[in-house]
Amino acid sequence: MSDVNKYIDGEIDRFQEELFEFLRIPSVSAKSEHNEDTQKAASWVAGQMRDAGLSSTVIDTPGHPVVLGEWREAGPEAPTLLVYGHYDVQPAEPLDEWESPAFEPTVRDGNLYARGASDDKGQLLLHIKALEAKLKGSGSLPVNVVMVAEGEEEVGSPNLVPFVKSHRDRLACDAVVISDSSMFAQGQPSLLFSLRGLGYFEIHVKGPSGDLHSGGYGGAVVNPGNVLAKIVTSLKNEDGSIAIDGFYDDVLEWEAQTREAIRELPFNESEFLEEVGAPGLDGEAGFSLLERLWIRPTCDVNGLLCGYTGEGAKTVLPARAMAKVSFRLVPNQHPDRIGELLRAHVAKVSPPEVEVTVEDLHGGRPWKAELEGPFFEAARTALEKAFGVPPVLTGEGGSIPIVVDFQEILEAPVLLMGFAPPGANMHAPNEWIPLENFESGIRAVAQFYSELGNG
Ligand SMILES: [Zn+2]
Repeated sequence: MSDVNKYIDGEIDRFQEELFEFLRIPSVSAKSEHNEDTQKAASWVAGQMRDAGLSSTVIDTPGHPVVLGEWREAGPEAPTLLVYGHYDVQPAEPLDEWESPAFEPTVRDGNLYARGASDDKGQLLLHIKALEAKLKGSGSLPVNVVMVAEGEEEVGSPNLVPFVKSHRDRLACDAVVISDSSMFAQGQPSLLFSLRGLGYFEIHVKGPSGDLHSGGYGGAVVNPGNVLAKIVTSLKNEDGSIAIDGFYDDVLEWEAQTREAIRELPFNESEFLEEVGAPGLDGEAGFSLLERLWIRPTCDVNGLLCGYTGEGAKTVLPARAMAKVSFRLVPNQHPDRIGELLRAHVAKVSPPEVEVTVEDLHGGRPWKAELEGPFFEAARTALEKAFGVPPVLTGEGGSIPIVVDFQEILEAPVLLMGFAPPGANMHAPNEWIPLENFESGIRAVAQFYSELGNG
């Protein structure tokens, strides 16, 4: 057994105790009543980095601070790895749905329950512990390391891109590694090949200057509710595809190899159906369920507002109607371009007797991984050694906008290597991580550094 694994064996109980300590700090970034806790979590992380053998500083931003850890003794010729994670957590509400208190870590059946267990404190700390095990167990690292732990991920990272831009030189690196996602199945490690992006819009339809009596005016005045319904239904075709002209122009055709690999993943559609609790499933023709979730774009109504929705009948011809509509985007779509196409589509299908506007709410670009190179190879080998099975490649239906920013600002490939279990209840009550994943994660990341040294 390697000295590093021996070190981990000897220290794993303390590592777990320290994870409990971290999880007891309610660093809820969204709530100002927790500002002191969030600050405390930042100092705690800086202390952990120092104990691991890195130099660390807490750097203020207009919001919550960024903790920066550095170890540069591999020398200027050696590559540099940037490790990113976040020390803030989601609010714990609704509190009465937690089986044990959200900020009192509790172990049941080998699983650790607490807010932040998986997202992202458990995964951030396992990186720090892997560095400690390497530095104390083997004495050095084959690469320079810079760690960025932010405290605003759960509120949309408003200060991170400015921070990365203003510290571009200090953060210069050859690759970025992020552990803030899930494994495909328990015991089955995975590496992400893509993330979907997001284009989020509001469609407003304005008719008469005020609400009207539907008996006195209906039939003569165009109803914004009817128009909005027409717009919304015009967005998709019967076969589940999106009916906006040009929408698919930039959609990447994935190589047969990737689609083949997705088809080979063990996936139980009836369990999925049970999980969502819907009477049936839908989707774009010609694509498997996982493909629809990972590599195909979507169009969904997220909210509708119009007319009278209270009890009983009110015969109103509403003056206005509004829909919130979002698109999950895939490489190489861009939210700005999707906004232009949506506006052109809405203008085409709307009658001139109403005023229709489309507002941008939020956008994030999709991401595609570079599945090659020394960092990717090292990660693949390390995960296989730590878990006993090779990692599978998976997509992610959600968005992590910072990934694209890192890639562009630092001009370095990003590696997403998650250790959370599927169904970790991130953002929900009873968030958890198997203690086994915390330990295997430490071993896998330590091994990742060893592999980088072998390359
Ligand atoms: Zn997270």
